[in-house]
Amino acid sequence: MPPVPHTPNVPRRDAQLVTLPPDLEAGLGRIELHTAPHGIVADLDLAVCHTCHRGVIEHVRTDPPHRRRGHGRALVTAALRRGTGYAWSTTRVDTAGAAAFWAAVAPNLPHQPAYCAHMRRAAALEP
Ligand SMILES: [Zn+2]
Repeated sequence: MPPVPHTPNVPRRDAQLVTLPPDLEAGLGRIELHTAPHGIVADLDLAVCHTCHRGVIEHVRTDPPHRRRGHGRALVTAALRRGTGYAWSTTRVDTAGAAAFWAAVAPNLPHQPAYCAHMRRAAALEP
């Protein structure tokens, strides 16, 4: 069977999400997207507080050759699932590309990180 061409904006079938939990409650965790044979091609950092029902997504990143395949969307969806119904925000959006990404993927998230006291305390304690 000939190889099936990859359709843009659809995650590759071999994409695998790997979650690295934070060392501390409400600390910074990471979700990575791995593909074979490239390894990690996209990731994001996130802080989730299950006491305050709050989450902050930081630094969504996809290697340039692997963009426009839905990896960023898959990562953000996985992040939001870690706190369904929570008050989510992102770090500041400072490029047109980032603004377009968020408009397409999660248009209602404020781009002003709303860290709670638990997140700030964890961030101060983490190396
Ligand atoms: Zn909190």
